[in-house]
Amino acid sequence: MTCPLCESAKEQRVGIKNDYQIQRCDQCGLMYADPMPTPEELDVFYAEYGVNRKNIERKDEKVRRWVRRLFLIEKLAPPGRSLDIGCNTGFATEAARRYGYEAHGIDLGRESIELAQEMFPACDFELATAQDVAGRGEQFELVTCPEVIEHLTELQTFAEALRSLVRPGGILYLTTPDTGHWLVPRDKLAWKEISPPHHLIYFGRPQMRRLLEEHGFRVLFFFPMLHKPNLRVVARRI
Ligand SMILES: [Zn+2]
Repeated sequence: MTCPLCESAKEQRVGIKNDYQIQRCDQCGLMYADPMPTPEELDVFYAEYGVNRKNIERKDEKVRRWVRRLFLIEKLAPPGRSLDIGCNTGFATEAARRYGYEAHGIDLGRESIELAQEMFPACDFELATAQDVAGRGEQFELVTCPEVIEHLTELQTFAEALRSLVRPGGILYLTTPDTGHWLVPRDKLAWKEISPPHHLIYFGRPQMRRLLEEHGFRVLFFFPMLHKPNLRVVARRI
């Protein structure tokens, strides 16, 4: 297949994991599963996804953690509306609300959305994709997208949705595993984050910067992550 980021057809096979080929693009360095699972295969897979009940017992702590995480980001973003993509049971959505945002959260898990609405009634939750919300022409000053992009099969469509969802001048905060982190094993297939059909697209900083810059964003900075192979980027919509 061609690279989901740069469309180059030159790829190197890294190996096979969970019966999926893992490729690395010669041109841009993105890694990805090949072929991508079909929507039907993913439906079967995600139907087994439940809600982590332990999170509910620890909801105050979880929200506080997100309040701390958004401390700097919130200062960079204009006030207004926030959207949390892949909101799960709504901790980041609620944290944004506590910073004064009119807070929205979307997810594809029905059970998560119902629970989020029950726990945080002052926020607005919806069973929807980023593309659904972008298709309605809605815009937000702050968009958070934690640990979502590595699950997607339609990278370009999703990036187009991000471009449309973040109002010019607004802030995007996105996180995903980091293939370029020093803690990632030399044999990348041994890394637990290479886990198709769960994770399908694997970014390092250069690939993330390219994706965002090609879709209307200026990367402000990556959070330094010393002890966790996680990429956390803050970008402003131009
Ligand atoms: Zn590429």
